[in-house]
Amino acid sequence: MKSCMSARRGSSTSRGYDARWQAFRRGVIIKHIQENGPVCGCGCGGRLTTGKPWHADNAEVDHIKAVSGPDDPLFYADGNHQVLRKSCHSTKTRRDQQKGDSGPQVTIGADGWPVS
Ligand SMILES: [Zn+2]
Repeated sequence: MKSCMSARRGSSTSRGYDARWQAFRRGVIIKHIQENGPVCGCGCGGRLTTGKPWHADNAEVDHIKAVSGPDDPLFYADGNHQVLRKSCHSTKTRRDQQKGDSGPQVTIGADGWPVS
């Protein structure tokens, strides 16, 4: 009997929006690095560790105004993104949640994907 259970980690592909978000995210990171250099967008002075600009392993694209998910009009809205280090991103995400923003409780994980 064949078991075809695939590992359930990080397979956001099935959600259908990842390709768009990945491309978008890449563009945001490239633009940020071109304009500001590989530094964290929150002003902490921390550096993004970039292997390749479009694959910055310590860079997260943050939604300045918290969004509830990819269906949120603000998810891709102009000017609603900043590039943060992972640690700063998770700190901000926690803060956003503690503020109790209205809307569904969606946690954005450290990798920038909603965790449910
Ligand atoms: Zn920072």
